[in-house]
Amino acid sequence: MAYPLTHRQYYEGLKAGKLLGLKCGKCGAITAPPKINCLQCNGADLEVVELSGQAEIKTFTVVRVPPEGMTAPYVVALAELAEGPWLMGNLEVADPGAVTMDIIGRKVTVGHKVVPADLYSAGEGVAVTFSICGSPPPSGREAVKKMIC
Ligand SMILES: [Zn+2]
Repeated sequence: MAYPLTHRQYYEGLKAGKLLGLKCGKCGAITAPPKINCLQCNGADLEVVELSGQAEIKTFTVVRVPPEGMTAPYVVALAELAEGPWLMGNLEVADPGAVTMDIIGRKVTVGHKVVPADLYSAGEGVAVTFSICGSPPPSGREAVKKMIC
């Protein structure tokens, strides 16, 4: 069985400024990140679609003891996309150590950052990022899409 959207294609999409997902031909649900079956009904009739990149923070944690190669603190968040599925990513804020529960429910846009290869990976990777609406990413990176908050 062929994957309708591989992780490589998903990450290449992010690098090109597109958040890609899969729309189920059976129930209409959106699946992201890519899977071989629909998250809702397990159907396999999936079509690649471009998603809005709009999401809402549902929960998060602040990592204060980083793995080798990472710099702490940083925020790992789960955000619910406007289309339904939840994505995990790094929340880009100026002061990650100062993030509080107040960010739950905040609107964010999905972006990406290129992660250099390290001892534990097979090469350069791409990580999903979230930027709070109305605040530019601290690094100056562009979000996938400018959104109206
Ligand atoms: Zn489905």
